[in-house]
Amino acid sequence: MDLKIVTGPKIGVVPLMGTRLGQEASMAHIWHQDEAKGGWRVYPLESASGGGVVVEDGVAEISWHRSDNAGDGVWVLEAAESVRVNGESLLIPFRVLEERDEIVLPSGRLLYFSKEGRARVTPLPHGTVEVCCARCRQPIAVGSPSVACPACGAYHHQADDLPCWTYAPRCSLCDQPTALDADYHFTPEAL
Ligand SMILES: [Zn+2]
Ligand SMILES: [Zn+2]
Repeated sequence: MDLKIVTGPKIGVVPLMGTRLGQEASMAHIWHQDEAKGGWRVYPLESASGGGVVVEDGVAEISWHRSDNAGDGVWVLEAAESVRVNGESLLIPFRVLEERDEIVLPSGRLLYFSKEGRARVTPLPHGTVEVCCARCRQPIAVGSPSVACPACGAYHHQADDLPCWTYAPRCSLCDQPTALDADYHFTPEAL
């Protein structure tokens, strides 16, 4: 699938085909400016094995590399020396991307990398240890509706009779807003 996400200096985005490996990886995204409509937009990076995006005709490529734990991987920027990250030229053509890294392409185009997720209600996944709700401290049954805080990872019930996640405006352990349609905490506009 070829998908051009902006007009002007080429950003060709080519998600490669593969198996989705983990929710954490699929939360990674890049912020880019939509020159036609203005404003910042999110482009999700696929968690496909080895998949990634090619930005500006191969000058920079962002790909996902799996570590030993399934679903726990790192995003690596492979780029020409003319690409700058957080104001620095790359000394080697690879760099592991960290939260809120600023990527400046030779054309001057600015991108930001983020792994921040948004709160979603999902069935509690199977695990080896019992998970207790961070709000009410009661166990959460495997398969029951729950929300993992996108910032701190704490699990909360989120069923009609136990709406622990949305019970308060913030996560019970951190300051992440609990609105289920909440926007990203980090946006380039906030800089
Ligand atoms: Zn609860
Ligand atoms: Zn939290």
